[in-house]
Amino acid sequence: MIIDCHTHSRNSFDADNDTVKERCQRAIQLGLDAMAITDHCEVNRFYEKEYYHITEEKYNDYGFKRAYEASMEEISLAKDEYSGKLNLICGIELGQATADTAVADMILSDKRLDFVIGSMHELPNHDDFAFLDYSKEDVPKLMEENFTEILKLCQWNKFDVLGHLTYALRYIQGNQKIQVDMSPYNDIIAAIFETIIKNGKGIEINTSGLRQAYGKTFPSYEYIKLYKDLGGEIITLGSDCHSTADLAKGIPEGIELARKAGFSQIAYYKNRQPHFLKI
Ligand SMILES: [Zn+2]
Ligand SMILES: [Zn+2]
Repeated sequence: MIIDCHTHSRNSFDADNDTVKERCQRAIQLGLDAMAITDHCEVNRFYEKEYYHITEEKYNDYGFKRAYEASMEEISLAKDEYSGKLNLICGIELGQATADTAVADMILSDKRLDFVIGSMHELPNHDDFAFLDYSKEDVPKLMEENFTEILKLCQWNKFDVLGHLTYALRYIQGNQKIQVDMSPYNDIIAAIFETIIKNGKGIEINTSGLRQAYGKTFPSYEYIKLYKDLGGEIITLGSDCHSTADLAKGIPEGIELARKAGFSQIAYYKNRQPHFLKI
């Protein structure tokens, strides 16, 4: 049994030019029990940059509205085309939803959506963690703010699962080799999990870190175990692939971590409702 509930198609600005159809064909070839396509939709960058009165050229451009519309349409067509052949899930990776909850609500009213990952890629008045230069002194403040914003996102409570809890470590620890002492954040991470559990939501094991410099899942095993020990029941798995070649990479290892933490089932979502598969 293998699923992949976090994948990006060409409708994500930072992904390869793979069509949804190509991805579906590969999923069938691999025999996936379920695959979600979850293209990026950064809520704080939803409209064209003119809307925000921004003129400077930036790599991470605005215009996620266009990408969202293209993604929903392409996935919906593929759902029809591969009906009965592939359990295709129409998902979205909603970034920074609390930055503009009116825009987030508008997107979430889309009935085509099966699954919503809530992610935090950037803090207010910062760029994506991917594009920041870190100095060791800045890290504690950034991490504190990061988890505070994630807690707010969980209190907002309109996603299905929280995406890659420890995403910031991909860049700070993985790429820029600054070791992060995580012990000051134990309490706030526990509060994040308690909020998610109370709200009947879930977390994901994002396996992308296994094939990157960081070398571990997001979050890593100790947090998966903490979530379980606090009463967490809903867990999804995703490769966060940005190319077809990486589809389902690390999922067996992720399932092994879930088992080790005490989970006997994993989830995927259809029509915003969890379905469980035994592991
Ligand atoms: Zn992400
Ligand atoms: Zn992603």
